[in-house]
Amino acid sequence: MSILSEHDKLLIHEQFMELQLNCPRVTKKADKELIKKAFDFANEAHKDIKRRSGEPYIFHPIAVARIVSEEMGLGTVSICAALLHDVVEDTEYTIEDIKNNFGENIAIIIDGLTKISNVFEQDASMQAENFRRILLTIADDVRVILIKLADRLHNMRTLASMPPNKRMKISGETTYLFAPLAHRLGLYAIKSELEDLSLKYRYPKVYNEIEKKIQSKEKRRITEISRFSLPIINELDEADVKYEINGRSKSIYSIWNKMQTKNVSFEEVYDLLAIRIIFEPQKAYTEKTQCWNIYSMITDIYVPKPDRLRDWISKPKANGYEALHATVMNRNGKWVEVQIRSTRMDEIAERGFAAHWKYKGNHTAESELDLWIKKIREILEDSSSDAMQFMDEFKLNLFASEINVFTPKGHIKSMPKNATALDFAYEIHSEVGDHAIGAKVNHKLEPLSYKLRSGDQVEIISSEQQKPQKEWLEFVITAKARSAITKTIKAEISNRIELGKSILEKELKKQNVHPSSRVFKKLLPAYDVLNKDELYSKIGSEIISLDNLKKVLKKNSKNKWIQYWIPQFGKQKAQEKESSTKEDFDFKKPFVIREESDSKNISYRIAECCNPIPGDDVIGYRDENGRVFIHKSKCPEAIKLMSNKGNRIVSAKWTKHKILSYLAKISLSGIDKIAMINEITSNISKQLNINIRTFNFDVHDGIFNGEISLYVHNTADLNTLILNLSKIKGIDKVKREEISGS
Ligand code: MN
Repeated sequence: MSILSEHDKLLIHEQFMELQLNCPRVTKKADKELIKKAFDFANEAHKDIKRRSGEPYIFHPIAVARIVSEEMGLGTVSICAALLHDVVEDTEYTIEDIKNNFGENIAIIIDGLTKISNVFEQDASMQAENFRRILLTIADDVRVILIKLADRLHNMRTLASMPPNKRMKISGETTYLFAPLAHRLGLYAIKSELEDLSLKYRYPKVYNEIEKKIQSKEKRRITEISRFSLPIINELDEADVKYEINGRSKSIYSIWNKMQTKNVSFEEVYDLLAIRIIFEPQKAYTEKTQCWNIYSMITDIYVPKPDRLRDWISKPKANGYEALHATVMNRNGKWVEVQIRSTRMDEIAERGFAAHWKYKGNHTAESELDLWIKKIREILEDSSSDAMQFMDEFKLNLFASEINVFTPKGHIKSMPKNATALDFAYEIHSEVGDHAIGAKVNHKLEPLSYKLRSGDQVEIISSEQQKPQKEWLEFVITAKARSAITKTIKAEISNRIELGKSILEKELKKQNVHPSSRVFKKLLPAYDVLNKDELYSKIGSEIISLDNLKKVLKKNSKNKWIQYWIPQFGKQKAQEKESSTKEDFDFKKPFVIREESDSKNISYRIAECCNPIPGDDVIGYRDENGRVFIHKSKCPEAIKLMSNKGNRIVSAKWTKHKILSYLAKISLSGIDKIAMINEITSNISKQLNINIRTFNFDVHDGIFNGEISLYVHNTADLNTLILNLSKIKGIDKVKREEISGS
């Protein structure tokens, strides 16, 4: 008894006939019979199951077999395995049954497919790692992976009939695991389709919006491309080349992805023009010669951009991609990318290595396929050159509340959403977190506050001199990081207090003074602190030196402790205009900019218009509330204040700053070379007391321009850094930049 109706059976038969008609590689009678046998077996095994859509289940294996044959160009073994791929997982039949009926080869593939399926039942963080492991070990037969991709492609094409939560999970996996895998294997057409379908289910609104925009702009684009292509077409016709020329339209996913990663508008992505010329090889020339002939034809018409020439003919990409890419300028001064390929190269580009067999003479034997499979295995197993990139492309984001990021060695760490690079550092080890100064995310330098995204590969840069900073608490989100930072900061403060206390007690003893409350009443105002702990802490961290202790103890405690001094120009102004202003300060001494660890108690502020750092020539401006704003002497704002409110200007002087860091910016430029960024950052990280806040790097025509925001203690440190950086070979200019605040 079967649940299938006569009509169902008819449809099934039709579907299978379609498959039989579309197996270009299956020519032998025995092969055809084997496929029929596999179909009958699967049909029998699945006869009691329907898909969620209401179709007979066997529709799915047949569809997968068709993808395997028609879209990937695989042969008998793969087609049979595709037909049988869900039998062991979903029915009573075992691997033994498959082996007995179809032999060892097919059984191994089915076994591998069943194992991969199980991976997706596990929890998210394990998936990527296990998936990779399975890919690497299963590579006994890479057909497993190809059939799995075909399986996934068909599931994506029919995803609409799934419940919404399953749709999200399946499309998430597709984006982060299967599409990159298809890309890696050079199956561009399948990769693009997988990406577009995933986007459609994950962000239907975004998908529809982009689709609509594309439609509204298409006409103009076609006109633009035709106008550009016309002179090329004329030349090609004249040279008797058979070709196809098309305006390459980007997939919806790739537009969206560019908008996301480059943070640009739809127009900026979409308006970049690109065309593809696919020519039929002429017998008299090699394909390579013809590619270059066409290139030369085009550059006779349009001016090329020399640094954008990509020759993947002399040296094809690892996944087999061959083509010549050039960028030329159209009549409106817009860059247009031109891809030149032969029909053979095009087929390989769209369908991967599978397309190869067609072009290797008359051999259509399975041995040809084996060679290709061997090649894919090599790619997958290659751990030296491109393995990192392989993992880079593996992205995992199955649950929105959790992201998965990779260590440089490809291990996965699950982090909560919004976690920063510093959270990641603490996730690895508290030692790594404590000494972190920056991170390389996907090989690009980023600050510790960088918000991680799923799939990011993160390497933490650390320095022995680094220690946890209070500001870090503003951007870490994991409990682990938070408690580690608080713990160290607290420990450090109490250490300093302890140290300061013992230093003071020793000094007082030398003076034969007992540390009574009367003594502290003298000491606290004299050293400009609010309480004992602050005094101890500042002594402990050498902000306060006790050289003048004897004097202080002798002094009358009624002395005013804040001392200001009006410089010459201020004084004159004050006398002229506002001589009546009541000031109860002693103006004999300059305002001393001390390092304050407690921000509530700071008697001055660093002006945000010019951001001076310790060591800069500065002046102070005292406002109505007695707060002193520290400006650079040459700051335009300060100059304005000097002329208007001269009496409020005070001279100012830095004390040694050792704990607090100040924001400074440097710019640098030079010749771009490999490892330049690395050299710069390692140079910075070598230097004590300097932390990178942001790092921007721009390369254009072999010249780089960079801007680095840093936290430094003083000008001396900054100048040393600038000197060191300017010694790096290839660096042309390094200089400090003004920071203009808003
Ligand atoms: Mn399936």
